[in-house]
Amino acid sequence: MAFGWIDEQAAARREAGLVRTLRPRPADSPLLDLASNDYLGLARHPEVVAGAAAAARTWGGGATGSRLVTGTTELHTELERELAEFCGFEAALVFSSGYAANLAAVTALAPHGSLIVSDAGNHASLIDGCRLARGTTQVVAHADPDAVRKALGTHEGPAVAVSDTVFSVDGDAAPLAGLAEACREHGAGLVVDDAHGLGVLGAGGRGAPQAAGLAGADDVVVTVTLSKSLGSQGGAVLGPARVVEHLVNAARTFIFDTGLAPASAGAALAALRLLGREPQRAARAREVATGLHARLTAAGLEAVRPDAAVVSVRAPSPEEAVQWAADCRAAGLFVGCFRPPSVPDGISRLRLTARADLSEEQIERAVQVIGGTRP
Ligand code: PMP
Repeated sequence: MAFGWIDEQAAARREAGLVRTLRPRPADSPLLDLASNDYLGLARHPEVVAGAAAAARTWGGGATGSRLVTGTTELHTELERELAEFCGFEAALVFSSGYAANLAAVTALAPHGSLIVSDAGNHASLIDGCRLARGTTQVVAHADPDAVRKALGTHEGPAVAVSDTVFSVDGDAAPLAGLAEACREHGAGLVVDDAHGLGVLGAGGRGAPQAAGLAGADDVVVTVTLSKSLGSQGGAVLGPARVVEHLVNAARTFIFDTGLAPASAGAALAALRLLGREPQRAARAREVATGLHARLTAAGLEAVRPDAAVVSVRAPSPEEAVQWAADCRAAGLFVGCFRPPSVPDGISRLRLTARADLSEEQIERAVQVIGGTRP
């Protein structure tokens, strides 16, 4: 039977307790949200919503075509200019998602005969970029510049190292300065995914590369998403103008994809301008994360010290992680639940996001619910 193997996989998933299900979120959810990636609480900010609405009114519901044909509006160009300027890079290119931006950056910068050195903890979109690229990938130990240095030393020809800046599962930061140094010793490029750093790290949320002194470097390329701190949807690649020009001409997820929806571009631009005016939002997200971690630890829970706005709490098993998250939900708290196969290291955890707009009372309530429902 066609697709018969799917049923076998489904049975194995059920057996292992690893079935994923979708639960629609009502518009007026009463749950306290520590699961979304809306780090700065901007997704429903009136200015961001108004930016989306105004863009839709002016430009329509969709971009109408590829960026190279009809899909580049003046709004896209404005967003690219302001995004590059905010993060301190020469140029930026906007994509329909952060996933597409990562596929673009890795595939276009790793030609045939090149080496890609990829951190073992990288996000799935970077991994898929490596799989699609013509170059050869070598996966190295997590957050280890020496491992990157060693791998680069084995190769002649173009090379690039690829890493998240903040790892999405545990919220730990990559040693960016060390990675850049290792790359420079070998004349290699560095591509970093700042999905969880933009809006949270660096001066006023200018991102992890800015914090590491790498903004504007001619050998560093940064990818971001517009869907987390900026409360919108879409992605971007930031870097030297010559890299951006190369992507316009070579990146398949740019060329063959419909441009970012105007409403998303408008929302992201409004959020970016808001962040420029209210830089304290970034520091507040970090403060909430640190406070949340301290209280969880004081309550006897095993939490990873956060480098940005993600706080990861260890769960004993996948089944207990799922039950724990469900119990939190029943008690009014929405938390993320990460378990295999989404996490290749086999460790199940609750994943909490420290939103800048959480009150002290909400943080306290979250800790009480998590502590009170622990397996
Ligand atoms: N990189 C990282 C580290 C992410 O966590 C995500 C989002 N889950 C992405 C890239 C993909 O971004 P987007 O959701 O905009 O496609």
